[in-house]
Amino acid sequence: VKDLTKVYKLRKGNFGHEDFAAVSNATFTINRGETMALVGESGSGKSTIAKMVLHLEEPTSGSITIEGQDTSKLGARQLFDLRRTLQPVFQDPYGSLDPLHNIGNTIMEPLNVHKVGDAASRKARVYELLDQVSLPRELASRYPNELSGGQRQRVAVARGLALKPDILVLDEAVSALDVLVQAQILELLAELQRDLGLTYLFITHDLAVVRLIADRVCVMQRGRIVEQATTSEVFENPQQEYTKNLLAAIP
Ligand code: ATP
Ligand code: MG
Repeated sequence: VKDLTKVYKLRKGNFGHEDFAAVSNATFTINRGETMALVGESGSGKSTIAKMVLHLEEPTSGSITIEGQDTSKLGARQLFDLRRTLQPVFQDPYGSLDPLHNIGNTIMEPLNVHKVGDAASRKARVYELLDQVSLPRELASRYPNELSGGQRQRVAVARGLALKPDILVLDEAVSALDVLVQAQILELLAELQRDLGLTYLFITHDLAVVRLIADRVCVMQRGRIVEQATTSEVFENPQQEYTKNLLAAIP
């Protein structure tokens, strides 16, 4: 990710507009199989970066290069294919699971969108995915409101894995959970990363979680990456006043 910038036009009064830079010149690299954490307070631009990396939101300027391919040079069809390798896991319950879709259909959706296999093989894949995230297969016919928060988050992970992606973008994927369930999901993610060679862009406002999962950390403040280092460097020797304050806030 190089010099990535997102400027929104905000309405000002009844007629005017004002430019607002949600992300300014963000530059970072994530190596294959690594977990990069993006931390920072609410509104600092973390989700905006996630949306641009997922190619759901177009950057105002800057570039994203995946395996040597500058993605701004891709056509619509190629972008559609690229999205298979790059999957989101959003925070449940914020728009992550549709209350009207049962769990099986929720996990199957990316397979339908990308027309992977026939109906029988998609169903088999759903069961495989439920196994992979340690959920009982019977849950396939249930609805999100009939699951616990931790189970729903596992469903969101299963759906993220459906297309066998290389990269998961996890936006506050464990933030809504109590610490015990949080630890279980983090363990699952670590296991999946080892087994499948996944690369994670892991967004959180919780530095305690960062310490458990991340190899490297980018600290964001008002749209800018103000500090970037390995996790141990950030914890042992924070450079910015802002990072020191964040660390001091960990219970
Ligand atoms: P949080 O921790 O609360 O999720 P965040 O770091 O993910 O915060 P973003 O969602 O990236 O923050 O938002 C960054 C800034 O951009 C915020 O000030 C937000 O109001 C603004 N913003 C986000 N999306 C839009 C949009 N579509 N139009 C205008 N402004 C936006
Ligand atoms: Mg966010």
